[in-house]
Amino acid sequence: MTNDDTSAVSFTDLGLRPELLQALDTLGYEEPTPIQREAIPPLLAGRDLLGQAATGTGKTAAFALPVLQGLGPLEERGKQPHALILVPTRELAMQVSEAFHRYGRDLEARVLPIYGGQPIGRQLKELGRGVDVVVATPGRALDHLSRGTLDLTAIADVVLDEADEMLDMGFAEDLEAILAETPEHHRTMLFSATMPPRIDKMARSHLHDPVRITLGRDDVAAGESPQIRQSAYVVTRAHKPAALGRILDIESPVATIVFCRTRIEVDELTETMNGRGYRAEALHGGMSQEQRDRVMDRLRSQTADLLVATDVAARGLDVDHLSHVVNYDVPSAPEAYTHRIGRVGRAGREGVAITLVEPRQHRLLKAIERHTRTKMEVDKVPTVADLRARRLELTRAAIRETLVSADEGGEDGLDRFRAVVGSLSDEFDLVEVALASIKLAHESLGGSDEDQVELPDVTLKPDQQDAPKKRGPRHQPAGGTERIFVGLGRSAGIRPADLVGAIAGESSVSGREIGAIEITHRFSLVEVPAGKVDEVVQALRATQIKGRKATVKRDRGTKGR
Ligand code: AMP
Repeated sequence: MTNDDTSAVSFTDLGLRPELLQALDTLGYEEPTPIQREAIPPLLAGRDLLGQAATGTGKTAAFALPVLQGLGPLEERGKQPHALILVPTRELAMQVSEAFHRYGRDLEARVLPIYGGQPIGRQLKELGRGVDVVVATPGRALDHLSRGTLDLTAIADVVLDEADEMLDMGFAEDLEAILAETPEHHRTMLFSATMPPRIDKMARSHLHDPVRITLGRDDVAAGESPQIRQSAYVVTRAHKPAALGRILDIESPVATIVFCRTRIEVDELTETMNGRGYRAEALHGGMSQEQRDRVMDRLRSQTADLLVATDVAARGLDVDHLSHVVNYDVPSAPEAYTHRIGRVGRAGREGVAITLVEPRQHRLLKAIERHTRTKMEVDKVPTVADLRARRLELTRAAIRETLVSADEGGEDGLDRFRAVVGSLSDEFDLVEVALASIKLAHESLGGSDEDQVELPDVTLKPDQQDAPKKRGPRHQPAGGTERIFVGLGRSAGIRPADLVGAIAGESSVSGREIGAIEITHRFSLVEVPAGKVDEVVQALRATQIKGRKATVKRDRGTKGR
């Protein structure tokens, strides 16, 4: 493992108390995210904070950990809350309060979410018993204040989370009224995904000499990752494993690294994917060197094709034949994204980076696009029908390949099956015989339809208009695409990069114009602009790929998708 970036700062380095470190370890967090690295030390030193950070950056822990650090021993805590966290929505109130519970478990933190639409009785009871942290939507907090059931006189920390959204939702006056009830001396943290003038004004009147943190501002030079096809899929958390499986089935990668945020997630996903028939191996910071070496050996020898890893564990990792990087979660900072996808597309090879985005994480995706100065294609998760079509397509291509090579006197002569066809044709129509044979071939090629429920169609929230609705190949050529058949496949050691290299090197087609590449055991299919098919076919016939002459043809019968 090498330290090839500046992030080798641990939670311990940040100065967190042992109870919190223990909780983070249990959760499988391996290292702080950039916002945590920057925010936690000044917050522990008592500073106010103005943070520009979106959902998915780890901002909740960035404020929750310092708040929890300030809790005294349970027996010395009074009934009045120590911290008030204001959030725009009920959903967020629940999430943030769960986060406080998880991080504050060993401190026995008493956390209460209060939001509208929930019976007030339970909230009253809990408030009466005493709580440390109240996570509230502004309306309901004000409600309790006017009833006299929420006492803010002992508040030491106020957090305004997603402040821009709270203002957008018309909570400005409520917020002012609530803040007016807090003691003069308290610390304030304000987080907002955007910094419009209204937020600036609010910060000026409520924050005292705050530390300012902005994430994702330092853009990288354009064109730094030209060889990588980048796309994103919007999918809810619960459907991620199924979505990942389908995407892998459609993409047919050579080898993939899937990045997860925590050790626990790595272990769970590895197990799930193995259960779904993929050869997945886990790699995380909790493993011994010997275990890691074993995993890497399996990946290199291609006895595993999916590596599920945390950022920490994958640091310095160098696997030659990786073709795909999957971000199972949007990385917590744009820098981490570029770091991750740099694992593929090395040495001029083509690589693919796929990011699974939850509907609320659109801002993080935007930040990454700004950072990399590339627009990400937002794709729909393949449907069951897509998968079926795809599997049938593979079967069709395999049969075609068998026919073509038999025609050319290849070693797989078909003559020895003639007698079988003959005897069956006495009894059945030839088309029926063909249909049954194809069914058998399809099933033995793994094309059974045992799958699957449809996944719900979700889109990015809330500014969906930002999301391009439809995917095209990177450069959809005016005349559409067509496929060419290349009679070399995985058994000849062919990788996407070999095909891209040969085509881009020998014809006028650039790497960016090449569409989907399909590599099966014995042959490959490559999408190229329809107007250039003949040229590419001629060029590839005249050259060698991986030192071998290949059969190259226009793949008749189907247009590229
Ligand atoms: P947030 O941006 O606060 O909504 O956090 C996004 C997700 O990242 C949550 O699921 C957290 O549990 C997770 N998370 C936060 N900090 C870390 C970390 N340091 N390592 C791994 N996961 C984290």
